[in-house]
Amino acid sequence: MANYFNKSTDQVLKEFNTSKNGLDNGTLEMHKEKYGPNALNEKKKKSLVTVFLEQFKDLLVIILIIAGIISMATGEMESTIVIFAVIILNAILGTVQHVKAEQSLGSLKALSAPHAKVMRNGVKIEIESKDIVPGDILVLEAGDLVCADGRIIENYSLQVAESALTGESESVTKTSDLIDKDEVALGDQINMVFSSSLVTYGRALVVVTSTGMNTELGKIATLMEQTQEKKTPLQISMDDFSKKLAIVILVICAVVFGLSVYRNTPVLDSLMFAVALAVAAIPEALSSIVTIVLAIGTQKMAKENAIIKSLKAVEGLGSVSIICSDKTGTLTQNKMTTKELYVDSKLIDSKDLDLNSKPCKYLLDSAVLCNDSTSIDGKEIGDPTEVALVNLAHLYNVKELDLRSNFERLKEIPFDSDRKLMSTLHKIDGKNTLFTKGAFDVLLNRITNILTSDGVRPITEEDKRNIINTNMKLSQNGLRVLAFAYKEIPEIRDLSLEDENGYTFIGLISMIDPPRVESAEAVRDCITAGIKPIMITGDHKITASAIAKQIGILQDGDMAIEGLELDKMSDEELNRKLEHISVYARVSPEHKIRIVNAWQNKSKIVAMTGDGVNDAPALKQADIGIAMGITGTEVSKDAASMILTDDNFATIVKAVTNGRNVYSNIKNSIKFLLSGNTSGIIAVLYATLAALPVPFHPVHLLFINLLTDSLPAIAIGVEKPSKDLLKDKPRDSKESILTKDFIKEIALEGLVIAIFTLIAFHIGLNVGGEAVGSTMAFATLCLARLFHGFNCRGKKSIFKIGLFTNKFSWYAFLTGAVLLNAVLFVPPLQKLFEVAPLNIGNIGLIYLLAFLPTVIIQGVKVFLDFFQKEDSEEEKASI
Ligand code: ATP
Repeated sequence: MANYFNKSTDQVLKEFNTSKNGLDNGTLEMHKEKYGPNALNEKKKKSLVTVFLEQFKDLLVIILIIAGIISMATGEMESTIVIFAVIILNAILGTVQHVKAEQSLGSLKALSAPHAKVMRNGVKIEIESKDIVPGDILVLEAGDLVCADGRIIENYSLQVAESALTGESESVTKTSDLIDKDEVALGDQINMVFSSSLVTYGRALVVVTSTGMNTELGKIATLMEQTQEKKTPLQISMDDFSKKLAIVILVICAVVFGLSVYRNTPVLDSLMFAVALAVAAIPEALSSIVTIVLAIGTQKMAKENAIIKSLKAVEGLGSVSIICSDKTGTLTQNKMTTKELYVDSKLIDSKDLDLNSKPCKYLLDSAVLCNDSTSIDGKEIGDPTEVALVNLAHLYNVKELDLRSNFERLKEIPFDSDRKLMSTLHKIDGKNTLFTKGAFDVLLNRITNILTSDGVRPITEEDKRNIINTNMKLSQNGLRVLAFAYKEIPEIRDLSLEDENGYTFIGLISMIDPPRVESAEAVRDCITAGIKPIMITGDHKITASAIAKQIGILQDGDMAIEGLELDKMSDEELNRKLEHISVYARVSPEHKIRIVNAWQNKSKIVAMTGDGVNDAPALKQADIGIAMGITGTEVSKDAASMILTDDNFATIVKAVTNGRNVYSNIKNSIKFLLSGNTSGIIAVLYATLAALPVPFHPVHLLFINLLTDSLPAIAIGVEKPSKDLLKDKPRDSKESILTKDFIKEIALEGLVIAIFTLIAFHIGLNVGGEAVGSTMAFATLCLARLFHGFNCRGKKSIFKIGLFTNKFSWYAFLTGAVLLNAVLFVPPLQKLFEVAPLNIGNIGLIYLLAFLPTVIIQGVKVFLDFFQKEDSEEEKASI
């Protein structure tokens, strides 16, 4: 592999047949063919066999295997076959689900695939990083993820974090100079950048030397083993629950077995009781259902513009009680248009610049030269603030590329949100002129002179007062105001932050960035949902407050404070005022961390948006870090747990609703499965204690648990969000899913179903003996659980939820009923599932007895709905 750090820029450009203007079309095609896509090999996937075998590790599956062996020992061949068939089917389903989950995560990852800026045919364009080829000229800017290895050919104070490669978290300062040694360590190749590094500061042009598996990262194969998707708290608590359940089942089985033996029941029959109980109690489908519902939830969110990077975030979203949002682009449209300009002590419309006057000309020149963006043929690349300035120049037929090639950029200090300034050095009329643009309040204190049509003169207090008043007037209308200044410096040399002082004031440019139409409604929804929306912005306090008022974030009695004020506050003071502060302006990323911490100390779950390179720590600190898909830096996307593909605040609120919905659906599915199992357990326990025959064969219970119960459980999992979902307070994140009330409901509903199942069992025993009794018990239990699927769709009665609002619940019910009838009426299935033929009267009785639990449960719900309505009306009256 060639070393590029010790080759000159020209040599490397020549080797790849390229220039600073980038590849031409012909060479590009050749390189595509020669080098292929810029893709790192997928992680080594687990083999299907390994995944299949892993399915047998589950303690509950082991209990089932034991049940199968006991069945075999008791000569119950049909049961044995079905139990083992079920175990194998279960493992196949688990394997398929694993593969599907991997695919779906893969497609989500593809949605958030990184982009890169390259020069091609002399034009800067943005492409997917997989389309980069060696020889491409990469344009790196702060916040970018480096997607290939390359040699730096032009450097403007570039700093990169290479921790993914070197483990070193400190940023490294880079150079474009030649390194004239043969053997240097990777970290010493400071004229090279490497794939997976993050640009933390500055800019550079880089010629790509290797891509994909040929990069340094590609060579370190172990690094490619992407980390496995971690289990979510819900999945962990379900696993934990399953383990505990398994132990409880074993103990109860032992007790039931002991009891039967004590009663002189033959050992084999006693064993059959224990097996039936184990099979009844094990919620075989539970963990798959939780995973399936989570996966469906993430797919739905992706369609609604929120890409979830970790499943954990889906659950976390349901508990969010604070949303800290950037202003620009998230609450506003990020479509900046210049409005009024202040130049030569006059406030004028942006269309009224007189380019014959030096202040006006300097204002426009500085706006275009001290600017990295372009707007060519309607294609805007770069920061919208800067694009607005380029578009302003277009009004005067000034083309950014022409002006920039006439007055080349000699040196620069790039913009960063902490400093809020950007400076570039150019030779203008033979003088080295440093143009600076930036936040009005930051620049104002560094001004000593003012440029007027009569020339440059020292700035007076009155000038400053006028500028401040103008800024105030513009900001109060929600406009962003940028200040422009310049200074001449004697020679061309590297610039330092000390140079950003002693300026001559040129003027102000104001621009409008209207709020998104949907922001106000989303803010209202947030407040109804018990979530506090907070604006955190780098913008000026007055501008921020004006926008926050328009969309309802800043209300009477709320406070807006600046970063500097926050610095002066002690932790105690911040704690006291926290609930009242709705706008933080002129903040730096460190402030964001302090705000997140302060809320988290009050046990709140905080969602925080961020787009800049320095936002990464705050995004990691927040419970839900949210990055912007369009304007966000790759660094912020890397740190976030959710990415908004439309950068829209309203999407966060939608995602929170979806998060709450997914959680409540999962909870309802769990309730459905566990209450059904409870009814099975109660029936078996009753039969043991009453010294009756076993009411169900293991095949019956497996049929219900795995087949007919799974369908309504999934249907419940895809229930649409109810209108009331946003009226509830956020869920306490520490609250366990299995609360006392929840367990009580499960037990009661299970008991009701068990009572009717046992009535059917007794009737069957009386009219037709053991076989008919067991068939009637099985059919009633199965059907009652299918009806119960409608009860578990939500807290309210089915009349409130709407009987036909979830078509899947009907498909599930009908499919389950058809399957049950097939087992009851098709002779080979009758034999396999050990059911006795029933007469029409018995069948009618089964349908009636299976329906009655639902009548009772719905009756109670209707009653509760009625009282809750009265309560809420009383509440309204008292308000
Ligand atoms: P938000 O934090 O809500 O996204 P923001 O865009 O105002 O808001 P920053 O990008 O950190 O936040 O900008 C902070 C301030 O820096 C702005 O209010 C503006 O005055 C100034 N500024 C923004 N972009 C530039 C730029 N490209 N060049 C110079 N100054 C800029």
